[in-house]
Amino acid sequence: MGKKLYRFISIAVLGIISSIIILKSDTEVNSYDLSEKTIEVMNDQNDENNENKEEAKEQTTKETTWNLTSLYKDKASWKKELKKFSKDIKELENYVGKVTQSDKHLSYALKIQEDLDKRVESLYAYVSLNRDINKKSYEFIDMREELNKVYREYQPICSNLELEILKLSDSKFNEMMKNKNISTKYGMYLKDIRRNKKYYLDSKEESLLNKTGNLTSPKEIYELFTKMDKKSEMNPSEYAIALESEDRDERKKAFENEFVLYNDNINMLSGLLTGQVKKNIFYSEVRGYKNSREMYMLSDDIDSKVYDGLVDTVSKNLDGLHKYVKLRKEVLKLDKIYSYDMYTPIVNPTNDYIPYEKAQSLIYSSLSPLGKEYGDVLYKAFNERWVDVYSNDDKVSGAYCLSVYNNHPYVLLNYSGKLDSVSTLAHELGHAVYSYMSCNNQNYSNAHPSIFTHEVTSITNEALLYEMLIKNSTDDEQKAYYITQYLDLIKSTLFIQTMYAEFEQQIHSRAEKGENLNVLVLNDIWGELLQKYYGKDFTVDQLSKVGWSRIPHFYNSFYVYKYATGCSAAIAFSQDILSNGADNYLQFLKKGGSNYPLELLNQSGINLNGTKPIEKTTEKFNSLVNELEKIIKK
Ligand SMILES: [Zn+2]
Repeated sequence: MGKKLYRFISIAVLGIISSIIILKSDTEVNSYDLSEKTIEVMNDQNDENNENKEEAKEQTTKETTWNLTSLYKDKASWKKELKKFSKDIKELENYVGKVTQSDKHLSYALKIQEDLDKRVESLYAYVSLNRDINKKSYEFIDMREELNKVYREYQPICSNLELEILKLSDSKFNEMMKNKNISTKYGMYLKDIRRNKKYYLDSKEESLLNKTGNLTSPKEIYELFTKMDKKSEMNPSEYAIALESEDRDERKKAFENEFVLYNDNINMLSGLLTGQVKKNIFYSEVRGYKNSREMYMLSDDIDSKVYDGLVDTVSKNLDGLHKYVKLRKEVLKLDKIYSYDMYTPIVNPTNDYIPYEKAQSLIYSSLSPLGKEYGDVLYKAFNERWVDVYSNDDKVSGAYCLSVYNNHPYVLLNYSGKLDSVSTLAHELGHAVYSYMSCNNQNYSNAHPSIFTHEVTSITNEALLYEMLIKNSTDDEQKAYYITQYLDLIKSTLFIQTMYAEFEQQIHSRAEKGENLNVLVLNDIWGELLQKYYGKDFTVDQLSKVGWSRIPHFYNSFYVYKYATGCSAAIAFSQDILSNGADNYLQFLKKGGSNYPLELLNQSGINLNGTKPIEKTTEKFNSLVNELEKIIKK
């Protein structure tokens, strides 16, 4: 249960049509990294996919693939369970219209729903994981469709029950919460449902709003453009490689070819993004939120001040990033530095192929500050087939972690043997161990932390990996290389995501004031932000200004800021772990989703209502840039 069960409101407010998507985005936490984080990260991950494929094939053994029989013995057992599940949902249906009759009714219904939710999670995991390692097979697509059909019967039942709970009067609700079984096991879940009471309209209006969810959304059209109409000469991995080229003409050409595809359609793309903004304004107005941003941020119970604090604090601390850009310009010996000069390495990679076993030992040692308990879970992950390691032609690209309450989490990798891949492994294991500890220490309804805190745990692991590599590096060149990797992590997760967040806030607040948004306005805002974040050494050319049109995340509104706050919390945690030990952090992991994200972080000493963690992260960035400069100028 937990977050994913905003079944009644998310459909209407956010325009999410298929509820199984909600389930997916909630449990398959890291699929976001792959598809929607930054273009930079996405490309890195795709890039891993194609390289060393031959080498990888040779190494695949049973131990480096998933054991899916721990979910179901075989496909027949899955089908049998689906059939049984579709019958058992009737048991819950009996409570529609009656769930709030007494605390007993409520308590029974919640228990039945919990069991069904656990089962659907496993059903989903089996078919989805199988599909991702058998992408050419239609069988799993069909099975997924069968599951969707059943889920479409199940989901409205849950929505109806949630609506009844929402409509209860405060006094009756408080009376029911006196039942300890309800309040301890389901308190957070129920509180979460009731929080939306204020914004709930009457049944007729709600039903009308629900129907608007079926209208084609800007996001769907944007995806049709990027996936179907946009005919790139290069695939994402080739594009990433070309952008990293030492040959300036080559990277410039690649950049121009890619950006021109967006520029040629820029009025349509500005119409889509403006449509997304208008849609947000519509829903926030009819529901009575202060503005669009508040509507989205309240789903994590986060005050808008956190968002403004992030943008203000990063804005005041851009010196380090400006210095990093200047250093890049000097090392590359350029008169002017443009967007297409931002990806070629300024220090040569020093690692040869890193075998998977070596990656495991790097992970063990870099995460050893987290203590034995954490190490024991890593051991399980490596030895009980949690990770599907290597690429092959039947497997999807990228990396993710999928959490299953009745089982262990599953991690998908496309391991390439490059340092990037090792940090991706550290990242995914951050999600996996967090899921595992949440599930083992919390009951089901509190065992699904939000993406907000999930990203903290994955980035903490990456930070610890780089800290160890930098500390143990044997020569200056190696050290400089690791420093640039660490810098790029903070650059792309804190600085660039904050820039995106600032853009999103600006376009929404302008539209909310009644100002017009069009290509010229969007390009100008983007150009100004590029200049602001990269500093006076950076030259903004005309084509770079359409960069906003390449960010798919703007169709998941007010989402990117979570990466930036998550990064700050992670860097603050990693510094605290290295100097004071991991007790605080482990407590945080075990608390799972038992409270709202900021409260959980606060209890572990990371106060995101203040700006300290963000300042700490920019300080870390500055000190790394200074260290890099010292080595380079030696
Ligand atoms: Zn992640």
